[in-house]
Amino acid sequence: MKIPILDLKKQYKGIRLEVDRALRKVMAEQDFVLGKELDTLEKEIASYCHTRYAAGVASGTDALILALRALGVKEGDEVITTPFTFFATAEAVSIVGARPVFVDIDPKTYNMDPGLIEDKISDSTKAVIVVHLYGQCADMDPIIAIVKRHNLKIIEDCAQAVGAAYKTKRAGSMGDAGALSFFPSKNLGAFGDGGMVVANDLALAERVRLLRAHGSPGRYIHTMIGTNSRLDSMQAAVLRVKLKYLDGWLKTRRENAEYYNKNLSSLPLEIPYVPDANVHTYHLYTLRVREGSSELIRFLASAGIEARTYYPVPLHLQECYASLGYKRGDLPEAEKAAQETLSIPVYPEMTLKEKDFVIAAIKDFF
Ligand SMILES: *Cc1c(COP(=O)(O)O)cnc(C)c1O
Repeated sequence: MKIPILDLKKQYKGIRLEVDRALRKVMAEQDFVLGKELDTLEKEIASYCHTRYAAGVASGTDALILALRALGVKEGDEVITTPFTFFATAEAVSIVGARPVFVDIDPKTYNMDPGLIEDKISDSTKAVIVVHLYGQCADMDPIIAIVKRHNLKIIEDCAQAVGAAYKTKRAGSMGDAGALSFFPSKNLGAFGDGGMVVANDLALAERVRLLRAHGSPGRYIHTMIGTNSRLDSMQAAVLRVKLKYLDGWLKTRRENAEYYNKNLSSLPLEIPYVPDANVHTYHLYTLRVREGSSELIRFLASAGIEARTYYPVPLHLQECYASLGYKRGDLPEAEKAAQETLSIPVYPEMTLKEKDFVIAAIKDFF
């Protein structure tokens, strides 16, 4: 049996007629950029994320960059974030000219450890980017309290966590801005790149709207230096179809995770830890194996099962960040997690047979 980490062809099969119809409608109308589909999607996503506003952009990376710029983060500033995330989180900070300052993670949730943030705040600190890794929210209450105490801005990187909840709040609704990614492999994926900034503050949302379209409030008028970063109508049309299915898909991801939990918890590994405050969306189902995680990945590969480590090199140890001056051992929990974690297929279209095959292979390994 071959079981990839994600099978988007199966997802497409289930919604093909609707998606194809939506795409043909956009083609018939030839209304490709900043049109009606995007307007409607922005309203639907804002409502889904429990925010007042949403602004579509070209990618999750651009959502982070434009949120930072709209919040006034610039050259010489520092932005506190986690080293255990996809590279784009820190890259966005660097692109606006600021400096990423990394805080180690909680070893159970893999999200930023709120207890370590305050120590890293300096006179140059302007913002915190919280990442809701693997589809569950970071511990937001203490982080928000710190951010308020020091008068900082907070951006939620929700690229992996659309639909996740912390207490009664949706991911993206708790900070000054939330950044969503519609990269095809994300839980709500487009047919290409895409992203969105969600926010409750109108002025902030409008700054993002200006920045994404050359700082232009009207034709050939430019009030700021922006860029070209728009979510086009073809992507918006696909996303509007998929959004209707998202809650069902997230529910099935949770059921798959619970099935794994039940069948794997007696093995010498750690299943995902979900604090009571959280509703996890299982963008990734991640195990920790203290000894032999790479052997397990290879063993599963030989059985036809794709498992991967997200992410094997923490950002403070990336070559491009050598100039930040970190060394191995500085952020021990992130470094350990990078060595000991692996994610296994959890996508909603998996059959019972496939899940049982994965479970049997992991049992075989041990
Ligand atoms: C995918 C991802 C991004 C970047 O999103 P793109 O749409 O690929 O630019 C940023 N942060 C995290 C945590 C991600 O997983």
